[in-house]
Formats: sequence, C-alpha cells, structure tokens
Amino acid sequence: MRKPKVALFSLTSCEGCQFALLDLGEKFFDFLREIDLIDFSLIEEIPFPKGKVEIDVSFVEGLPIKKEEINLLKKIRKESKILVAMGNCAALGGIPEMKNYQGRERTIRYIYKKLNVENPEIKEIDNFVKVDFYIPGCPINGEEFLKYAKELIKGKIPEFPQKPVCSECEHQGKETCFLRKREPCLGPITLAGCQAICPKNFQLCYGCRGILKNINPKGFLETLKKFKSPKEIEDNLEIFGIKDDIEKFLKL
Ligand code: SF4
Ligand code: SF4
Ligand code: SF4
Repeated sequence: MRKPKVALFSLTSCEGCQFALLDLGEKFFDFLREIDLIDFSLIEEIPFPKGKVEIDVSFVEGLPIKKEEINLLKKIRKESKILVAMGNCAALGGIPEMKNYQGRERTIRYIYKKLNVENPEIKEIDNFVKVDFYIPGCPINGEEFLKYAKELIKGKIPEFPQKPVCSECEHQGKETCFLRKREPCLGPITLAGCQAICPKNFQLCYGCRGILKNINPKGFLETLKKFKSPKEIEDNLEIFGIKDDIEKFLKL
C-alpha cells in the first residue's frame, strides 16, 4: 500500500520545533515507518525535488525572510495537498516578530553596523500561502504533533479544542494564580494543550500557543490595564507574536 508522502520543511527559525520531534525518540521513528519522508532538514537537507512531487502533508517550521524562502514556500504550497504551519514562528510570527515592534531600522543598525543586510518585515506564513492547519507552541509539543499528524496523513483536517490554558492550570481558583497576584498571565485567552507548563513552573503564560478563536480579548486586556501599564502589557504580547492578532480587537 502506498504510504503518505510527508515533508518537514524549515524556513528561518531556531529549528526547535524539529528538535521537539526528535525528542520523541522511538515514537517519532515509529511515525516515520508509517510515511514516505520526502524531506526533514534536521536529518538531511535535500534540494527540493525537480518536477511534480505531490506531497500529501507538508509541515513548515519558521517563516520566510528572504525571496528564496518565499519562493520555496510557494512551491511547497503548490506541491502539497495539506500545508501545516508548525510552531509559533510559522503560525504567529513568533519571537522574530519582536523586530517589527522595536524599530526595525534601528535594531539592524545596532547589530550590523557595517553590513548591508536584508531587513524585511516579519510575517507569518499565511501572509504568503494558504495554510490548512496550525500546530501551536514554541516549541510545538511532540505528542500533540503525533496526534494531529496521524489524522492529517489520512487527509483529515483535525478539530482543535478551543479551551484556555487556565483549564489545565493547577493554580486555577487558587491564591497562587498569577492573575490573583496582579501579574499579567495570558492563560485566560491562550489556547490550551501545553498542560499549562509555564504557570506550573512559576512562569507567566505569554501566549505562545496563540489566542483562542472563540473569544474577544478586549475585556481581559481592560482588566490587565487596571494593574499594569499599557507598555508592560504590550511587552508581554510582543514576545510570541500575538500583539498584531490582539490589535484586531483592541488598540492598546
Ligand atoms: S516556534 Fe519556537 S521552537 Fe519553533 S522554530 Fe520558532 S522559535 Fe524555534
Ligand atoms: S494560567 Fe495563569 S491566569 Fe490561568 S489559572 Fe494559571 S496562573 Fe492563573
Ligand atoms: S503556558 Fe503559555 S507560554 Fe507556556 S507553553 Fe503554554 S501557551 Fe506557551
């Protein structure tokens, strides 16, 4: 029986999402036995095959910052039945998007004093091509990848449960909840699935999995403004690229 053709492409990124897959160990190699792997740059970077490839599912990590990457992304789209944004950078602009908010020209001049480097605005991949499914997180959760990848290789687009991080958080309803302590935790508006790993380890949730689809975050942000300045709130929203998504609802 023909195995589904799957490719894992990496654009500009830290490659941490690919490492999350390798961290699955034996489970990842079991998954590889179910598919025909066309490309996985962390194992071996293969030049994009010439001619028609017809990939069943392409997972794309990172985002395009050079013309070559934009062209590659468009070629991936053309050859793929299903295209998946893998991780926060691909889905939301991620950590690289911070550059957009810091004064792009000034940042580049500070870092590259003499070199003339390309300095494009950072944009998530659905600005360039149609995306069929998003796997959230920075990095992605390997187990979650496997769960959804197994449906995707059968040609199905999975449903993503729209629950907040708070629903998985052991601090919910307790004095230890960051919000109760007037700290700007983004758990109430952020998509669950990470088992609230940051609050569990006494860190705020900064929303790396993106905001829930079924909510308007305006009321929540108004609440945060009662104890944090707009600048502090903005700084938190910039970390994982959700600021521009939130601005659709509210001008901070
Ligand atoms: S989402 Fe996070 S881990 Fe994945 S490539 Fe981007 S920065 Fe790296
Ligand atoms: S995720 Fe944050 S706001 Fe939600 S219950 Fe946990 S600590 Fe409180
Ligand atoms: S708690 Fe928030 S920042 Fe941490 S992994 Fe989950 S969604 Fe990302």
